[in-house]
Amino acid sequence: MSHRLSVVVQTPAHSALSGPLIYSHATPLPPGSLVRVPLGKRETLGVVWDGVPEESEFEIRPISAALDGLPPLNAAWRGLVQFAAQYYQRAVGEVALAALPPQLRELDTTQLARRLKRPQAGAAAGTEGATHSVALSVEQTSAIAEFDAQAGPFLLFGATGSGKTEVYLQLVQSLLARDPTAQALVMVPEINLTPQLEARFRERFEPQYGAASVVSMHSGMTPPQRLKSWMAAHFGTARIVLGTRMAVFASMPRLQLIVVDEEHDPSYKQQEGARYSARDLAVYRSQLETRLATQADAAATPCKVLLGSATPSLESWHHSRPAAEGGRYVRLAMPSRIGAGALPKVRLVDMNLQQKKTVFSPQLLGAIQQRVERGEQSMVFLNRRGYAPVLACNACEWKSECPHCSAYRVFHKIDRSLRCHHCGYAEPVPRACPTCGNPDISPVGRGTERLEEYLAELLVDLRRPDGGRVVVARIDADSTKAKGALEAQLDQVHTGAVDVLVGTQMIAKGHDFRRITLVAAINPDGALFSSDFRAPERLFSLLMQAGGRAGRDAAHSAASEMWVQTEHPTHPLFTALRQHDYPAFAQSQLGERLGAGMPPFSYQALVRAEARTQEAAQAFLTLASAAACDVPDADRVTLYPAVPMGVQRVANIERAQMLVESPSRAALQQFLSGWHNVLHAVRSQPECKGLIRWAIDVDPLAI
Ligand code: ADP
Ligand code: ZN
Ligand code: ZN
Repeated sequence: MSHRLSVVVQTPAHSALSGPLIYSHATPLPPGSLVRVPLGKRETLGVVWDGVPEESEFEIRPISAALDGLPPLNAAWRGLVQFAAQYYQRAVGEVALAALPPQLRELDTTQLARRLKRPQAGAAAGTEGATHSVALSVEQTSAIAEFDAQAGPFLLFGATGSGKTEVYLQLVQSLLARDPTAQALVMVPEINLTPQLEARFRERFEPQYGAASVVSMHSGMTPPQRLKSWMAAHFGTARIVLGTRMAVFASMPRLQLIVVDEEHDPSYKQQEGARYSARDLAVYRSQLETRLATQADAAATPCKVLLGSATPSLESWHHSRPAAEGGRYVRLAMPSRIGAGALPKVRLVDMNLQQKKTVFSPQLLGAIQQRVERGEQSMVFLNRRGYAPVLACNACEWKSECPHCSAYRVFHKIDRSLRCHHCGYAEPVPRACPTCGNPDISPVGRGTERLEEYLAELLVDLRRPDGGRVVVARIDADSTKAKGALEAQLDQVHTGAVDVLVGTQMIAKGHDFRRITLVAAINPDGALFSSDFRAPERLFSLLMQAGGRAGRDAAHSAASEMWVQTEHPTHPLFTALRQHDYPAFAQSQLGERLGAGMPPFSYQALVRAEARTQEAAQAFLTLASAAACDVPDADRVTLYPAVPMGVQRVANIERAQMLVESPSRAALQQFLSGWHNVLHAVRSQPECKGLIRWAIDVDPLAI
């Protein structure tokens, strides 16, 4: 007799096959079992899903094999995947399979069996008595006591250098000590940028729990490494998983603690496929894990979640308002830096008072020179890589436009190329203007490459205390393309070989630079008046983060400064920055958002359409909007008109978007799931000819 199984597989994103498929097998298999199944002419990996399948009009094929060496994925994992698929409007199979390590898809049962036979190294504890003890600060102690006493979710609002990481380490340490099988998940925005965090966790836990106790999960790993980490987490040998956003889907059967470090960071939001927020899913997952565990055993320990940041997202900040005002998160505050380390003094330079086209005000330049002479380091950041954003002809109207995008190609002097940062199209710089033949074409504006060159010129006569020449270095996406380049460049900063570091926001995040006493933002004004309502929030957090790089060593912190050059020195954002007053900034921003009915006081989704023509892209959205009125809850959402996207054309594809907004999250969800079929149907209308693809982005970060 054969048993019927629901199985989810990776199906093409927009095919109608979005639910589980039906297969048969000689014996029943529990939900969560991994199987190989025939799909069309190929064979593919699938996950047995919950629910007994209904009758099928198609022929039911047997599964090819059950990967029975692997324990099934548990109910919490399946529940998380199910929720994410529904919430972000994608197929369950797509989310489930994307959440598994890619190599698992390729292994057949014999290969898998061979893998499983290899010893899962070091499950046993290492040396004894290696427990680490740090004298915690008063603020750390009380944050941990609160954490232990309450259910959460928690928002750890701690200044840069207040010892948040130490709190994470302590929470993990006491969990592992309390429960010999418990697992913890610690997420960071970009693990490549934070090898230090990994080192701190390994240093703390490996002596006691063995080398296999800490594993990483991020996209920089090779497929075999990812599979290995995944298995270690799935089998429970790994007690701690450190990872980027993808790690939120790690299979961790004994998960009891989730930490989301730098929870405000935009890179927690996936920007393709299922556009999930790993931070939001982390909160959901902790609640689901707790619910399922306590259903099985009322005395089970809950799975708690802690979000940490010096500049929380306004959403999380708002959630952590007092419970009496409706807050759902517990806010834990650590306002002081550890030791004598003071926060840097903020200096605003009014660029209106400078000569036109000034790049470095004399005051800032003087302050950098002083640092060099004292043997201290400075960090200068500018959010634009390349030499110059545009190359222009001095005789005619020619500019370095990308032929495939509605954007300029950026001039990279290092290889004398014009490169489009949207589609990647690159060409050597022309010898003369392609339009009029004038040989006199020149860069307009400046990026990090030019800033580095310029600063090196300005400082050329200066000497370091050891008599050596000043070293100016640059770190950005261009300088760190080669594997290991970033580590090597960071090392140079740590060893003190570099005096002035120029870079993009890449250098502003997380690094623990001990000898930097000056941080400068050259031209951050663009974000103040951006059409994206989240731009000020991002700027504030970037500046606070960058400032947090300065003066981390108490020995130097008295002299540490954060310089901002701006034409709007009285802007409230800078006033709050000057006082390191995130709450004041948040309050003014939330006031504006409330007035304008924007998140977190409303909920949004974007539908994006890509087509051969702008007309087709917009027609699709407009028709879908017109057909929305019969969808449940349509009266509780607002559909805005379709508009071209900021960069309207990329790689010859026209892009348009439409905003959908509701004061109720539930109504928006209800509407979107009903509207999905409408979007599918509208696609085949004649006006939409040339439509290439469309996608829904729920809780979009950039509008
Ligand atoms: P954050 O993550 O908030 O920026 P960290 O946890 O990295 O802060 O702490 C900043 C520095 O202070 C680190 O060098 C850390 O080792 C040190 N530190 C943290 N907590 C303590 C403590 N209780 N006693 C001494 N040093 C500490
Ligand atoms: Zn010309
Ligand atoms: Zn382009």
